[in-house]
Amino acid sequence: MIEYLGRETFDLVVIGGGITGAWIALDAAMRGLSVGLVEQGDFASGSSSRSSRFVHGGLRYLRYRHFSLVRESLRERGVLLRLAPHLVRPFPFLLPVYKGGRDSALLLRIGLTGYELLAGTLGIGRHRVRSKKDLMREEPALRADGLQIGLQYYDAVTNDARLTLTVLLGAIARGAAAANYVQAVSWEKAGGRVAAVNCREVTTGAELTVRGRVIICAAGPWTDELRAMSGASSILRPTKGVHIVVARESLHTESIIAFDWHGRSLFVVPAGRHTYVGTTDTDWRGDPNGVVAAAGDVAYLIEAANAFFNRRLTATDVTAAWAGVRPLVADEGSPTPSDVSRDYEILEGTPGVYAICGGKLTNGRSMAEALVDRVIEREGRYFAAKPARCRTGNVLLQGAIADFGRYRKRAVADLVEGWGMPEESAAHLVDTYGTQHARVLGAAGPDPSLLASVDDGSPELLVEAAHAAAHEMVVTLEDFMRRRSDLMFFGSGLDAGAASRVAGVLAHSLGWDDAEKHRQTAAYQLAAARVMAFRPEVSEVATQDR
Ligand code: FAD
Repeated sequence: MIEYLGRETFDLVVIGGGITGAWIALDAAMRGLSVGLVEQGDFASGSSSRSSRFVHGGLRYLRYRHFSLVRESLRERGVLLRLAPHLVRPFPFLLPVYKGGRDSALLLRIGLTGYELLAGTLGIGRHRVRSKKDLMREEPALRADGLQIGLQYYDAVTNDARLTLTVLLGAIARGAAAANYVQAVSWEKAGGRVAAVNCREVTTGAELTVRGRVIICAAGPWTDELRAMSGASSILRPTKGVHIVVARESLHTESIIAFDWHGRSLFVVPAGRHTYVGTTDTDWRGDPNGVVAAAGDVAYLIEAANAFFNRRLTATDVTAAWAGVRPLVADEGSPTPSDVSRDYEILEGTPGVYAICGGKLTNGRSMAEALVDRVIEREGRYFAAKPARCRTGNVLLQGAIADFGRYRKRAVADLVEGWGMPEESAAHLVDTYGTQHARVLGAAGPDPSLLASVDDGSPELLVEAAHAAAHEMVVTLEDFMRRRSDLMFFGSGLDAGAASRVAGVLAHSLGWDDAEKHRQTAAYQLAAARVMAFRPEVSEVATQDR
């Protein structure tokens, strides 16, 4: 990929391998444009692996009258449910209504009806009223005192990092070149317009020039940093969001439960053997790379969960936490971070350079469509061939199949009966890789030991690491533990045993010698310590190691 990036002159060079850059690469490649993409870290290592993982219209944005954003996001939810049914799934959400709460049941029902109307034919069912008795039976962890009724509706959930990777792999399958750990450091001009991006290979320090007719910055929270290269002013109001993870036994819910905490909507989300709670929303001014869950963020989320559930969570119940930066576009009228619009903006600067920022994981596809349309309209004369119209709304992503529900049932049964696989692993494989799950298992080759779980009883299998090394551009141990798989946050990935077993598989597949394997394991342990830095004893270790 790196060699290809250095050799070609691309129609578009995309800086940033988050969800926005990935969709731009796929959209442009499908229209027949040549595309090169560089990502300074791992793909999706920015905001696109740190979200709440909802593919949603955003019910709460109705409060701010952001109707067109909600409508667009609901449409995109419908599109994604069709394009990637293995990765984007409908999920029940519940709004418990408490005496003295911010919104009355009537207001919430009006909001939900509006939400359903905005979704139109792409809606996922009508909301239902649940009595207190039903709620106490279905969600016994909810605080009973003051509970009046609940309103249940449907939205969708995903795995953000894998969705991003899947979109990007689709772009590569259509001829795009994409490399992770390649950082754009400056751009060159020729004849009054941009001509190339100067890059640095992060792992080796080698320099690389990627030539292009148009440059797109899809750099999320790093947008201001990149725009500053050409003297452009800053446009972002970045905000930090933290999620905490606890074991399912500590806090268990069947639906995603949304509740209001001092004017903010928080969510409790069941995720296999775990549950996560999020999110905070506070202004963030530092380096996006430096964002971590602080003790205060964790305490805030614990306090909120304890207020709405009959549990007494403490920081020791928190098994992991993740923090991200929302690349929001500054908007003068918004007093608090939660008020800032989640809409996106396309900016033009140096001739031939475009930037896109803001938006959501949910509407990355439509953002890419709008950007590529704009670029073709303004820059079409620089491209060798006339680009086609956008087709990303119609072509299934890798692993998708039309009747996924039926396919899933059969595939899981085949794995359980034919391969003797535990049902949890079988379901995990089919939900993660869709129709590609057999290819993943094929990466075991003649070595049956790779078909074992990463950790005793965990649904993830070692063979997934071998597959990711061969087909998913894994460079580091953390890439696999944190983004190709969910082991870091939802598995036993923070303990050294699981990481060491995965490092063994990656070392074999990627040709790491013992020194490199040791280096990778140490770097991962440091990253794991940063994830737990909110605990004072771990914070000390992370600081010493740094
Ligand atoms: P990013 O994912 O940050 O990608 C930008 C990439 O550019 C990064 O990977 C970065 O490394 C790379 N880059 C930067 N500079 C350079 C350079 N010089 N050279 C090469 N590469 C570079 N949205 C939803 O729809 N649903 C949700 O539930 C949701 N929840 C959220 C919760 C939180 C806490 C946060 C933080 C966000 C949430 N979002 C959600 C928003 C969503 O995650 C973001 O809008 C989206 O991921 C932004 O994607 P992006 O590609 O624009 O940015």
